[in-house]
Amino acid sequence: MLGLNRPELSQLMEEMGEAPFRAQQLLDAVYRQKVESVDQISTLSQELRAKLAEKNVSVGFPRIDKRFVSQDGTVRYLIEFSDGQSVETVWMPEGDGGESGDGTEAGESSAMRSTARQWDRATICISSQVGCAVDCQFCLTALLGVKRNLTAGEIVGQVCAVLKDQKVSPPQDRINLVFMGMGEPFLNYDNFIKAVRLLVEEVGVAESRMTVSTAGIVPRIHDFGQEPVRPKLAISLNASNDRQRTELMPLNRKWNLEKLMAAAREFPLRNRERITFEYVLLHGVNDSSDNAREVAELLRGMRAKVNLIALNPGPGIRFSTPEEERVAAFQQTLIKAGIPAFVRRPRGRDIYAACGQLKRTVEIASAPVS
Ligand code: SAH
Repeated sequence: MLGLNRPELSQLMEEMGEAPFRAQQLLDAVYRQKVESVDQISTLSQELRAKLAEKNVSVGFPRIDKRFVSQDGTVRYLIEFSDGQSVETVWMPEGDGGESGDGTEAGESSAMRSTARQWDRATICISSQVGCAVDCQFCLTALLGVKRNLTAGEIVGQVCAVLKDQKVSPPQDRINLVFMGMGEPFLNYDNFIKAVRLLVEEVGVAESRMTVSTAGIVPRIHDFGQEPVRPKLAISLNASNDRQRTELMPLNRKWNLEKLMAAAREFPLRNRERITFEYVLLHGVNDSSDNAREVAELLRGMRAKVNLIALNPGPGIRFSTPEEERVAAFQQTLIKAGIPAFVRRPRGRDIYAACGQLKRTVEIASAPVS
């Protein structure tokens, strides 16, 4: 049932000869209460629960296979689905300063900070595919190749599993969602959009608290702009000219900077909305002041901001991380050119949970919890 929307659950109940109000009970049980089995849906009669079991209707709640807890509070979850495939989902108390789902920068508002816990907002980073086909040269997920798309239920299921594990629920708790985990969301577009709707309508996360990142699937950027319900848009830029971008992100051959920037410029922004451009800084490769000036040129006149990410290293990645001063200098060049630029702080690097490190790594120094 996870992944089914209101009309689909209504139809299921109708087919089973049940009253229409049952659909609401199922939605509440699955998406609000986050039951893990039909047995746990106490609002249904024993008889109906048995009938569902007979029809092989299950909840489809994913299993948390492992948890890795970072020194900084980040938790990397290995989440397993019914066919045994798994993805990673990351819980970041206080986020990483880049998501700003409500339009403020993380850490700006702490007036409502609860004394009971250490965060007043948290961000969940969600995967959209098992592995990834895009082959960015600095990203560990690329090494897996793509195994399959996730269903809408599996995308929403990651969120439900983490919310339940952390004992929080939106909208009472301030939760931001970023579609920035394993996979390319715009290569699994329909399931991604269906998941977004379920997350907004049934789980209770506002669209303004969600951001999706794409490596630059240009036709889908156009489609995305037409969606009546949509997260904010982030684009992984990562290079300042075509030669360099093609080297780092082979998809640039198909959708080069001219096409990408045209799509970004045409993208219909809402009130006060900006497009985020992510830029991974690789030591001695794309981190010079010339590169920064080229980025400023690309973004001139746009309602945009740049999130800078110093490379998170990993085995099999041939690049290295620039020094902090170099990152700061790059940021200053952008700011001087009038482009808002932020440096994202790495979260959970010690447990391979940071950007570009999601590879279902189980062989790490610190032992998994539980
Ligand atoms: N496939 C989508 C969603 C993933 S977002 C996309 O590419 O946008 C993951 C972000 O992490 C991207 O902005 C990517 O550029 C960045 N990233 C990838 N590998 C990284 C690494 N090793 N260090 C730091 N950031 C990295």
